[in-house]
Amino acid sequence: MKLVRFGPQGHEQPGLIDPAGCLRDLSLVLPDIGPAQLNDAVLDRVRRLDWDQLPKVEGAPRLGCPVADIGKFIAIGLNYADHAAEAGLPVPTEPVVFMKATSCLQGPNDPVMLPKGSLKTDWEVELGVVIGAQARHVPVRHALRHVAGYCVVNDVSERSFQLERGGTWDKGKGCDTFGPVGPWLVTRDEIAHPQRLKLWLDVNDQAMQRGSTQTMVFGVASLISYVSQFMTLLPGDLITTGTPPGVGMGRQPPQFLKADDTITLGIGGLGEQRQLVVPFQR
Ligand code: ZN
Repeated sequence: MKLVRFGPQGHEQPGLIDPAGCLRDLSLVLPDIGPAQLNDAVLDRVRRLDWDQLPKVEGAPRLGCPVADIGKFIAIGLNYADHAAEAGLPVPTEPVVFMKATSCLQGPNDPVMLPKGSLKTDWEVELGVVIGAQARHVPVRHALRHVAGYCVVNDVSERSFQLERGGTWDKGKGCDTFGPVGPWLVTRDEIAHPQRLKLWLDVNDQAMQRGSTQTMVFGVASLISYVSQFMTLLPGDLITTGTPPGVGMGRQPPQFLKADDTITLGIGGLGEQRQLVVPFQR
């Protein structure tokens, strides 16, 4: 199932994309798509509905982040060996874990705003994993049962804030608009092999990132198991799993985002995003 939230920011309604590609309204069935709806029982109930009876949504409304009320936005750093190399950093022996502020979450096609004083705002296409069932010290072999679904994430990053201002990476990762998610939450039954997904990202139609989840250092199941040793993962938590090579910081010479750039990105089976880069505004 491809679940969406559509409508103006802060007033999104739940929906799904039917097999013909039509947006169907789920608001008479579910109050929203959030922590209380991501368990297998609720998702199975939606799956069994006669989708032809759901109201069709006309036009092309704005899409929001496909999951409401995300409690934790956890990110994994340097999880592709070739990206670690372009960043000039060693491949980690254990996953690098950091947090993105949940206030940076937004819809897949909302503009990305350069933060005040930005020098090095950069792009990162990533596979996002949404938790559906609480996970605490889960073994790797059971970890994927705790997944509600998968989505595209752009882990937008300000490199000078992240790497040159001291302290943790979080300063350059949680700026407003730095967390486009979606277009859809694709439930895990549709993604049989999360380690065989192609990822891509272009800036102004120029190819920047081309990769596959096949080359992750730590796969999705290992990451869930690992993170669940340090914090309880709750329904609605989002883990973004690292980026393949081709970020602006790794180019010769380095290239960063400027106002009026357009970022397009996607993952096979999970849809595409498009963001216009805009200058800082209060
Ligand atoms: Zn990242």
